[in-house]
Amino acid sequence: MYIIPILAITLIAVVLVILIIRAVRLKPKEHIYKKLTSDLEVDVRKTAEKLSETIRCKTISYSDYSKFDFSEFIKFHDLMKKQFPNSHSEMELKTVNGYSLLYKWNGTDAKLKPGLFMAHIDVVPIEHGTEDDWEYPPFGGDIEGGFVWGRGTIDIKLQIVTMLEACEMLLKTGFKPKRTIYFAFGHDEETDGSNGARKIVEKLQKEGIELEFVNDEGGCINEGILTSVEKPIAFIGIAEKGYLNLKVSIKGKGGHASTPPENSSLGLVAKAICRIERGKMGLRLTDPALQMIESLGRHMGFLSRLVIANFWLFKTVFIKLFTTSGTTGEALLRTTIAPTMAKGSMEPNVLPQVSSFIVNCRILQGETYKDVINHIEMACRGFDYKIDILRHEEPSALSSANSEIFNKIAGAVLGLNNDIAIIPYLMVAGTDSIKYECICKNILRFSPYSINMEDMKRIHGTNERVSLDNISNGVKFYMALFSDM
Ligand SMILES: [Zn+2]
Repeated sequence: MYIIPILAITLIAVVLVILIIRAVRLKPKEHIYKKLTSDLEVDVRKTAEKLSETIRCKTISYSDYSKFDFSEFIKFHDLMKKQFPNSHSEMELKTVNGYSLLYKWNGTDAKLKPGLFMAHIDVVPIEHGTEDDWEYPPFGGDIEGGFVWGRGTIDIKLQIVTMLEACEMLLKTGFKPKRTIYFAFGHDEETDGSNGARKIVEKLQKEGIELEFVNDEGGCINEGILTSVEKPIAFIGIAEKGYLNLKVSIKGKGGHASTPPENSSLGLVAKAICRIERGKMGLRLTDPALQMIESLGRHMGFLSRLVIANFWLFKTVFIKLFTTSGTTGEALLRTTIAPTMAKGSMEPNVLPQVSSFIVNCRILQGETYKDVINHIEMACRGFDYKIDILRHEEPSALSSANSEIFNKIAGAVLGLNNDIAIIPYLMVAGTDSIKYECICKNILRFSPYSINMEDMKRIHGTNERVSLDNISNGVKFYMALFSDM
C-alpha cells in the first residue's frame, strides 16, 4: 500500500535532481573565444580631436530629402581625406549616390569572400526648443571633462573615426589583411537608408560581390542594464525585427460640429486605436530571443539558471514573468504596434469626413507584414476604412552566433576586458544592415563601446557625448579585429 507514494516521491526526487544538474551545467562559455588584442599604442587625444572635427560637419538627415545640406557632407568627405591619409592612399574609395562612401581595402587572399563594416555619416536633427539645454553646442565637438560632446558622437561618427584610425595605425606598420575589407558609410540611415545603404548594396550586387559578413551598429557593451547580471554585457545583434508604417483612414459623417453624430470619424479612429492597444499580437519565443535568454542565464544566479536551463518545464511561467518585467521584455516576444500620429479635420468646428492615424510596427520573426495588416483590419471591423502601406521591411534572417566573425568580435571584446558576458541578441529596433541580406548571410550588429543607461538616453536626445575611454577602446578593438582578418 506504500508503493504508490514511494514511487511518486522517487519520481519527484529524480526530476529535481535532473533540474538541478541542468542548472549547474549552464555555465558561462566565454572561454571558447580566442582573445584578440593589439600592442599598438592609441593616441587618444589625437583621435578625439579627429572625432571633434567630424562633429562640426552638420550632416543632418531629414525625411524630406530636399532639406539636406549636402555641402556639409562634402565637408565631411574632405575631412576624411585629411584625417586618414594612409587609408586614402591604400584603399579604393567610391562615392556612391553623391554622398555615401564605400572604401575597399584589398586583401592578400583573393579566394576569401570580403567582409564589410558599416556606419553612417548622417545624424538626427536637434529637437526644436532644446538647443539651449545642451551643456556644449551640439555641433561644437567640445572636448571637456573626459568626453567629446555633440550630435553624432555616439550615433555614430565614433564608429567611422575609430575604424579608420585603426586602419591608419595598422597601415603604418605595413599590415595588409588577408580578406578584403569594405567600409560602407551611408548618408541617410536616420531616415530610411534608401539613398545611401540601399544604393551601396545595389552597386555591390551589380558587381557580383557576395560578402562573408557584415557588421553594423546595433548592440554595445552595457553595464547595470540587468540587476541579475553583474558584469558588463556585450550584446551582439544576430537578428532584427521587421519594420512597418501603416496609415489607416476611417470615413465618417462630415458637417457642422454643432450637430455631431454619435461617433465622428475621429471618434472611430480612437475606437480602433483602443482595440489595437487592448488586443495585442500573440507572444512567441523565437530562436534569437531564446539564444539571448539562454546566454544571459549562464551569468545569472542559481534560481534563474534553474528556470532557464529547464525551459521545457518553466517556459510558460518564464514568458509571463519576462513580459511583465518591462516593455523591452515584451518587445522581444511579440510584434508591437504603436499608434504614433493621428489627424482629424483642419478646423475646430468642422467634423472630419475622413480621419486617419499612423501605426509604427516592429514585426517578430515568423510573422509578416500581412499578418500585421490582418490584425489591424480586425481592429477596424465595422468601419469604412482604408489601409495604406507607407514603409515596410520584413523581419531579418537569423545570423549564426557560432560563425567565424561572431567568434572574432567576441574575442576582440574579451581582449578589451576579460570579464564581459558575450550575448547574442534580437534587436527590437531596425538598422540599415537588413538591406545587405541579398548579398550576405552573416549579418551582425555590434559596436564596441561601453555605454551606461544615462548616456544611452542622450542618443538622439540632448547632450550626446562619448568618453575618451570609449574612443581608445574602439581603436584598440578594431585594430585587434582587423589584424585578424
Ligand atoms: Zn545610428
